[in-house]
Amino acid sequence: MKYLNSKSSLSGLRKAPLLPVAIVIAGGIAGGLLATLFLPTSDAPELVTAEAKTEMSEQAPEAEAPAKAAEEPATEVSVAAYAVPTTETLQEMTKTVSVAKGDTLMKVLTRAGADRTESYEAITALTELFDPRDLKIGQDITLHFDSNDTGEETTEPTPTLVRVSLNEDVDRQLAVVRTPEAGFTAQETIIELDKKLVRTGGVIQNSLFLSAAQAGIPTKTIVDLIRIFSYDVDFQREIQPGDSFEVYFERFTDENGRVLKEGAIHWASMTLSGKEISVFRFKTADDGFTDYYDAKGRSVKKTLMRTPINGARLTSGFGNRKHPTLGYTKKHLGVDFGARSGTPIMAAGNGVVEMAGRNGGYGNYVRIRHNSEFKTAYAHMRKFAKGVRKGSRVKQGQIIGYVGTTGRSTGPHLHYEVHRNGRKINPLSVKLPAGRKLGGKMLAAFRKHSEAISSDVASAPLEKQLAELDQ
Ligand SMILES: [Zn+2]
Repeated sequence: MKYLNSKSSLSGLRKAPLLPVAIVIAGGIAGGLLATLFLPTSDAPELVTAEAKTEMSEQAPEAEAPAKAAEEPATEVSVAAYAVPTTETLQEMTKTVSVAKGDTLMKVLTRAGADRTESYEAITALTELFDPRDLKIGQDITLHFDSNDTGEETTEPTPTLVRVSLNEDVDRQLAVVRTPEAGFTAQETIIELDKKLVRTGGVIQNSLFLSAAQAGIPTKTIVDLIRIFSYDVDFQREIQPGDSFEVYFERFTDENGRVLKEGAIHWASMTLSGKEISVFRFKTADDGFTDYYDAKGRSVKKTLMRTPINGARLTSGFGNRKHPTLGYTKKHLGVDFGARSGTPIMAAGNGVVEMAGRNGGYGNYVRIRHNSEFKTAYAHMRKFAKGVRKGSRVKQGQIIGYVGTTGRSTGPHLHYEVHRNGRKINPLSVKLPAGRKLGGKMLAAFRKHSEAISSDVASAPLEKQLAELDQ
């Protein structure tokens, strides 16, 4: 693993992450005590709880694992200091906290015992490299405090925040460090991972999702795969036992060969009832967009997705049927997909939200206007996705809400409608207009690219079972 550091020298960066190791060693004995000592109980009473202790001892070693303890004798000193909790020996401490639901960076830092003003300064410095809104639940944030060594007589030392660090990704670490001269400054450490392309695939037994998962393909890649093919393949109806798939995608490993994350799919194919569809990832130089194209250079994207939900089954088609709750025969002007409550629902195409709210028997309802011709509607949602409201713009595949059973509904399902020129049509049979078709120079470039990829794929061994992600 090589550390490519863009903003500061490594010496400072390598030192601080070691401290959590020390905390863990001492954590069992002094962890709770430390929290009590460093954090005035009136400000953060919740820290002196069993959970806080557990969190410290369980999460610190993993979060900071890349730093090898042997390099830094200073940690041993710290352990000794923590083990004897007297004011004379209190010098520094590190605390790792996890982001919980509803947290802001300010909440996390102050909960960990940092002063509000210091937290504010640290966050301000960090925003140079990180949008605090990108904070993820479960993300670990490590704070490093120093005691105020002013020499003044105080009953309790006030810990000063000197460093905040977080792993933004497996290969990107961010930190803000306080220096006496400049206050907090942001630092970024990029860990260069090795990229490897792997080819895998298999026969679809029941569903693509299950078969791909059994082959060890990470969920993110499976979801991407389904998304790529969802414009062409009706996953509810077209998949037959014996159909097969293959995917050629990026995996990133560290110097020990541990797989840390997966990247883009470069090529994928599905063979349905003996007919093969292959797609290639390609960036068009004229507009800079990356998209997936079939072998003839036609974008896989259609204006609308037929099935704006993954892992659901079609439970009611379009047309006449006996209404399940009203009891009489009524034309069903949409299609129903049965899915577990909470399953994400995607926008079938780019567009503007025309309505997002309660709508009679439809329950929680979203309608998107895609263009002058097409609209789509989604009903019975449990809740709407963040930011989905009247007038907001949505992108194809973006999550707009979650399956529920609000309104006139007998169980969790998505009722999906496609409106064409104001008429409700069957989304499963309508011929949807296609996306970009490459021509001229772009097509020539695409041909060259797809030939190269095809030959790479042909020479790559087909791995039937992938190793799991090391996390
Ligand atoms: Zn319905």
